[in-house]
Amino acid sequence: MIFSKEETILAYTVERCPKCNKLNRRDFSEGDVLFMPSSDCSFCDGITVIEKIYGEIFQK
Ligand SMILES: [Zn+2]
Repeated sequence: MIFSKEETILAYTVERCPKCNKLNRRDFSEGDVLFMPSSDCSFCDGITVIEKIYGEIFQK
C-alpha cells in the first residue's frame, strides 16, 4: 500500500470593518497580525481590522 500524503496548507486572513461590519476574506500575506488595521473598506470609508487568521488543509 502506498501512502501519498500531500497536504497543502492555505492560510487566510479575515478582515472586518468596524464601521459597517462587513467581512472580507483574502489570502494571508506576510506580516499580517491579528487586530492590526489592514486595508481600506470597499463598502464605506472605514479601515478594516484583521479579525482572524486561519489555515485550511487540503489533501490531494
Ligand atoms: Zn466598512
